[in-house]
Amino acid sequence: MSLKLDGKQLSLEIEEKLKKDIESYINTSKRPPGLAVIRIGEDPASGVYVKNKEKACSRVGIKSFIFHLKETVKQKEVEQLIHKLNLDNDIDGMLLQLPIPKNFDEQKLISQINPDKDVDGLNELNIGKLVKNEPAMRSCTPAGIINLLRSQNIKIEGKKIVVIGRSLLVGKPLSLMLLNLNGTVTMTHSKTINLNKICKEADILIAAAGKPNLIDSSFVKKGAVIIDVGIHRLTSSDKSKTRLCGDVLLEDVIPKVFAYTPVPGGVGPMTVTMLLVNTIFSWQKQFGLSSTLKDLLP
Ligand code: NAD
Repeated sequence: MSLKLDGKQLSLEIEEKLKKDIESYINTSKRPPGLAVIRIGEDPASGVYVKNKEKACSRVGIKSFIFHLKETVKQKEVEQLIHKLNLDNDIDGMLLQLPIPKNFDEQKLISQINPDKDVDGLNELNIGKLVKNEPAMRSCTPAGIINLLRSQNIKIEGKKIVVIGRSLLVGKPLSLMLLNLNGTVTMTHSKTINLNKICKEADILIAAAGKPNLIDSSFVKKGAVIIDVGIHRLTSSDKSKTRLCGDVLLEDVIPKVFAYTPVPGGVGPMTVTMLLVNTIFSWQKQFGLSSTLKDLLP
């Protein structure tokens, strides 16, 4: 039987540890870790993600500060808010909830976040350090995937790993993290020729294309590990029901693989947990406390 890489369970276990870490350091720091989330506009999915982050923070004892700005806010005003939060001693981590409306210069905003508070790991300094394999804030979804693999002692070193997708949020940083851990990584994308053949060689196949059910069993080597990053809400033909699915046609793939991540309950919960980890890591650093989280940071 195939092994389920249960992100929900692992994130609960990590959250328990995070809660204890905060409790044991709070006497020294005299304040809880603080996470600021900036949301612009009314994208409904972003609303759900921000709520989930807020709830996760309160479960472990992080204080969250939510800034929900109207779509009519000016780029300059968002930049001023970022600068203010950069200087705010109660804030250890900050993120811009993506996507933001097209009229904003997203990269310019992200590049103004203090790299030490950049808990999404998207600032160019943090990405540069990832390229150089130096310690820095690491982006959450890729870091969550590495922890899921490690939790079941799935070896990365020397393995053939194929990553589908090259986004700055998932595919690129993930490929670099796996490379830094001595995987033999192939990065693929929408213009890749013979995707099926390349995927079939993978010991670990990671799908982050954002295309529902793109990967069926014909893409997968027997005994491989498959990680499904995609998340899509599909509506039934009569529009009466919706259900979540990933980039992988799981029911077809599961019988063939050694291990897989479910959707929901796989990569998603780990993404939120790594946001908490990054925030607490930054808080510990701010107070010169020894980090209890190094093992979780790839
Ligand atoms: P994106 O659209 O920015 O990037 C998609 C990448 O996939 C691109 O590099 C593109 O070249 C590649 N691609 C598209 N179609 C392809 C195809 N047919 N064959 C091969 N490559 C193809 O998306 P993203 O932000 O990287 O997110 C990818 C998916 O992961 C989305 O479904 C997103 O919702 C999901 N996601 C989930 C989490 C989570 O926590 N579970 C976090 C981030 C993103």
